[in-house]
Amino acid sequence: TEELLRKSDRLAAVGQLAAGVAHEVRNPLTVLKGFTQLLKNGFTEYENYLTLMESEVERIELIISEFLTLAKPEVMNVQKKDLGAFLQQVVDLMNTKAILNSIQITLKIDQELSPITCDENQLKQVFINTLQNAIEAMPHGGNIFIFVEKYDYEQVQIRIIDEGCGIPQERIPRLGEPFYSTKEKGTGLGLMVSYKIIERHEGSFFIHSELNKGTTVTILLPIELVGARQYIQ
Ligand code: ADP
Ligand code: MG
Repeated sequence: TEELLRKSDRLAAVGQLAAGVAHEVRNPLTVLKGFTQLLKNGFTEYENYLTLMESEVERIELIISEFLTLAKPEVMNVQKKDLGAFLQQVVDLMNTKAILNSIQITLKIDQELSPITCDENQLKQVFINTLQNAIEAMPHGGNIFIFVEKYDYEQVQIRIIDEGCGIPQERIPRLGEPFYSTKEKGTGLGLMVSYKIIERHEGSFFIHSELNKGTTVTILLPIELVGARQYIQ
């Protein structure tokens, strides 16, 4: 019955989220419908409209794909992986965007680090989301530091430190709630997806931030992921 209860909790949460997604998707759909009608009525200048329509469709795609990450009962593909190696891949991936924004990313990995049991693709998603937020918080450039070290016998610690705009103190408790975004093109789902993935890994996710100084995201992950939860959820 406990499992059943957990399932019904989950369904309720997914239902709430679905209502949110429906609401968020309705705005770009309204825009799309408006433009479609304009085009149907033979408006000229349609190239501009098509560009706008394309970006609204992309927005819908993004909201839906983030929603699916949350709603899908994910089978974890757990393997022993070198955390430093795949973090380096994520940094390489994000570097183009960083350089374009005059941001330097420095990755420091403790050489003593042992491999961890994890779902590599899911953790990559967390690091991409976090780095994306760090980059978006620094429109005038700066530094991002990533420190990976052994925390204790059972856990590794990853800290992602930016020098961005920071987050007002009163907002911090609400981070991770869906659709809270301060960005024009934000979905407000990235943090929620990240929290969920770290929770599946039985780890912890903390945000410390100072306005106009920067933000530090601290993630703790077990080295050895034990228990049945690595297969379900
Ligand atoms: P999105 O990036 O689509 O807005 P997220 O869930 O990733 O959604 O983040 C939610 C909000 O949290 C952001 O809009 C931003 O206000 C705040 N935030 C998250 N990370 C940072 C950061 N590193 N620096 C400043 N603000 C941040
Ligand atoms: Mg984000």
